[in-house]
Amino acid sequence: MALTIDQLNAATPEQALAWLDGLYEHSPWIAEAALLKRPFRSVAALKLAMVEVVRRSGRDKQLVLLRGHPELAGKAMVAGSLTAESTNEQTKSGLTNCSPAELEKIQALNRAYSAKFGWPFMLAVRGPRGAGLTRAQIIATFERRLGGHPDFELAEALRNIHRVVEIRLNDKFGLEPTLGNQVWDCAELLATHSDPGYAELGQLTVTYLTQAHQNCQVQLVRWMKECGFDEVNVDAVGNVVGLYRGRHDGGDTEQKRLLTGSHFDTVRNGGKYDGRLGIFVPMVCVRELHRAGRRLPFCVEVVGFAEEEGQRYKATFLGSGALTGHFDPAWLDQFDADGVSMRDAMRAAGLPATLDTIGACKRNPADYLGFVEVHIEQGPVLNEMDLPLGVVTSINGSVRFVGEVVGMASHAGTTPMDRRRDAATAVAELALYLEQRAASVPHVVGTIGMLHVPNGSINVVPGRCTFSLDIRATTNEVRDACAADVLAELKRIAERRGLHHTLEETMRAAAAPSAPEWQARWEAAVESLGLPVHRMPSGAGHDAMKLHEVMPQAMLFMRGGNSGISHNPLETISADDTQLCVQAFQHLLDQLAADMT
Ligand SMILES: [Zn+2]
Repeated sequence: MALTIDQLNAATPEQALAWLDGLYEHSPWIAEAALLKRPFRSVAALKLAMVEVVRRSGRDKQLVLLRGHPELAGKAMVAGSLTAESTNEQTKSGLTNCSPAELEKIQALNRAYSAKFGWPFMLAVRGPRGAGLTRAQIIATFERRLGGHPDFELAEALRNIHRVVEIRLNDKFGLEPTLGNQVWDCAELLATHSDPGYAELGQLTVTYLTQAHQNCQVQLVRWMKECGFDEVNVDAVGNVVGLYRGRHDGGDTEQKRLLTGSHFDTVRNGGKYDGRLGIFVPMVCVRELHRAGRRLPFCVEVVGFAEEEGQRYKATFLGSGALTGHFDPAWLDQFDADGVSMRDAMRAAGLPATLDTIGACKRNPADYLGFVEVHIEQGPVLNEMDLPLGVVTSINGSVRFVGEVVGMASHAGTTPMDRRRDAATAVAELALYLEQRAASVPHVVGTIGMLHVPNGSINVVPGRCTFSLDIRATTNEVRDACAADVLAELKRIAERRGLHHTLEETMRAAAAPSAPEWQARWEAAVESLGLPVHRMPSGAGHDAMKLHEVMPQAMLFMRGGNSGISHNPLETISADDTQLCVQAFQHLLDQLAADMT
């Protein structure tokens, strides 16, 4: 019989501890301390309580915990002396079937790893889907992590232990993240479509209206139909739009709609979840509604946006921009790197490529309740905090400049230090100022990502230096205050050093603060899962930023593994986090339904 959280909450301390025995290898103190926090609202809350115990226990106890674990495919496995739990996991991942060459490889890695870090390599070999990593994946991860910094690797090893425990807990409680698994499997399947040149290398690249992009559309249409959407269409810019009608829709009065979705195009050699997660999660929610024969007092419109990343054409947010009426007619005459105009690309993909049909994509905001978007965080914050979900407070506003400082190129040997007019050190000074100015205010980030000395030489004092400036903040005011200070500092530096400078603003995007009532719905949804609410800004731009211009919006972030890395094939999520994400979305739908009846 599987355990329930109510049973665990009601049990004597001894009984409860006995049930949780063996979760953390040879470390019953973790469950013991966590059980003091009973009652738990959910298994997710129990998991987090144990993670917190380990987090607060300090480095020494963490090292004891790590060293209590067996090596991967190590002597204990070969000798058959692992704990029952470890044997199960190492067998499932196929580690017990290693070829002699693989075994030798892993053992060499074990030796190098323990010499560098002083604890055994920890990897949740059942992987993010719980189905087991391949031996090749295990070895590749091992090699990659061997290069890490010890402090980071300590945290990563602990995260892997927590993941192992999560799966063991699921087994004890008879839980399977079935909805999360479905999302995970969809992401895997959709990622089989990739543009030529990348597909052959096993890399994921889906740019606007390529064959792979069209294959994704076809797949999304098929899935949406299978999920029970009432209408599924590909619109004039290639967005895939699914509509699940509300309870009384189709009668005399049209019902209001909740708009949601995200993009299915990718950057070059990108990840499988960026954007796509925000399509699959509501898709699975609609399927569950349809299965239960349930209609809501509003329609749910899910959009797979055709283009967000601006890879093939310089037309970022093309998909969501069509919904807000911001499709720039000049885009049709843009050419890609192969000289194909967007108009021709659209026609080749079976789209009409006329401004009339594109204009018809524009939504009337009065028809909509608002826009919500689920997205992988694409940053390290949730992963570091061991939190599966985060509520977005605002999508950062940004401003970008390119500039040039001009001094005097002169002989590096004969120009005394007090007679120089060095353009590069001036920009370096500005970079240091920007770093401390941005860091002095929470959630402000500033970057000089390009710093270049044109025609520089090893023996010449830099006479010119070109640079870029990127400043982002949660509000336009905070962003502008930082930009104003940085520009004033540039002026001061140039005057003091006797230099000229130019600066040109190249981009400015307004911050998109979440609508308070929609942010509150996400917060309530996260809370309902027994999880703490963590509020955070979004440093990256998203489709929600575009919809923000016409309707209230709010986003939910989900943790990414591998330090939240994104725009990278290492981007990853777990099925368990995804399950929570789907449940949060379901809760949001239920709240909205309750508000409207
Ligand atoms: Zn994205």
